[in-house]
Amino acid sequence: MSAAHPPRAEVLIDLSAVRHNVGLLAARAAESGAETMAVVKADGYGHGAAPVARAAVEAGASWLGTASLAEALDLRDAGITVRLLSWLDTTGVDFTPGIASDIELSVSSVQELARVADAAGRAGRTARVHLKIDTGLSRNGCPAYAWPDLVKAAAAEPDVDVVAIWSHLACADEPGHPSIDMQANRFATAYAVAREAGLRPLRHLANSAATLTRPDLHFDIVRPGIAVYGLNPVAQPEQLRPAMTFRSSVVLTKRIEAGESVSYGHTWTARRDTTLALVPVGYADGVPRTLSGRMSVWLWGSRRPVVGRVCMDQLVVDCGDDEPPLGAEVVLFGTGEVGEPTATEWAETIGTIDYEIVTGMYRPRVRRRFIGEAGRR
Ligand SMILES: *Cc1c(COP(=O)(O)O)cnc(C)c1O
Repeated sequence: MSAAHPPRAEVLIDLSAVRHNVGLLAARAAESGAETMAVVKADGYGHGAAPVARAAVEAGASWLGTASLAEALDLRDAGITVRLLSWLDTTGVDFTPGIASDIELSVSSVQELARVADAAGRAGRTARVHLKIDTGLSRNGCPAYAWPDLVKAAAAEPDVDVVAIWSHLACADEPGHPSIDMQANRFATAYAVAREAGLRPLRHLANSAATLTRPDLHFDIVRPGIAVYGLNPVAQPEQLRPAMTFRSSVVLTKRIEAGESVSYGHTWTARRDTTLALVPVGYADGVPRTLSGRMSVWLWGSRRPVVGRVCMDQLVVDCGDDEPPLGAEVVLFGTGEVGEPTATEWAETIGTIDYEIVTGMYRPRVRRRFIGEAGRR
């Protein structure tokens, strides 16, 4: 399927895959009576926040989640009206426009509560907040010793409506890890304390991994991120479909003789005469240089090794005695359905997680194209 205009560096985002994945996650959540908050922080994990958000809502998400208020405001500017929670900002950020735009805010301390209440006063409306309890991740969230004061202050604050209490799991991607139940127990205690303070909040705790493996922890809302994009954080098989394909095309082919070496440092030498294909993507386009000598691409009907170093703007594929035509499509990673590499395979090769691979694809030089919009095939 070489395109009429062969791509240089392009990520194809399949929104029908997003809808499929969210449909699956929302169905799991619904079995426990929970709603689904699709997490679209970091520009939708590098996939494009607004189009992903629309697809997620079409498929049954009734909430969206972002890290920063700026990300949440961008979604409102894009015309997205569903409930929206943002959870991590610096101390200088003014919450007023967020409250005015009906964005719900996470609060981890009495200082933050005071800032939100002030902003609510300025916005002339009640702020909807989700109080975050740190149950053991030791990152964002209120420590247990400060929790009773926070819930009491929140309950007494007229400009603030406490919608939910929430927390985040440290090891949900390792099902059976003892910290999961420990965190769930601390979450139950925090909930009891909130109720004693007179609050009647919703609860949410589950990321993708817990959405897939711990229905008992779904509570009122689940917060899947990575699974929305079709990447599976747990070993158990799921019918998720990766939404991102990274592709390029052949710009030049040439024969080299046995004994000739390829790319900077001459780290690879041809053992026999062979055909090389040049592909105009490199580490500036999101191909980690540490994949040099350890990656292959899908080209002209099969997997072929990338030889020599990955450069800033180009890499070289060994095609043996095959001669792919100029403009032939090169899939760097995709769904894996036909045998092409996946983002997960890249991550495993270089010792990271696929989250980092896909979020790293948001780059000015990489064109993003959406396919599979609703109502189209
Ligand atoms: C990123 C994030 C999620 C989603 O996590 P996944 O592992 O991608 O499902 C959920 N909750 C919070 C607080 C997050 O920061």
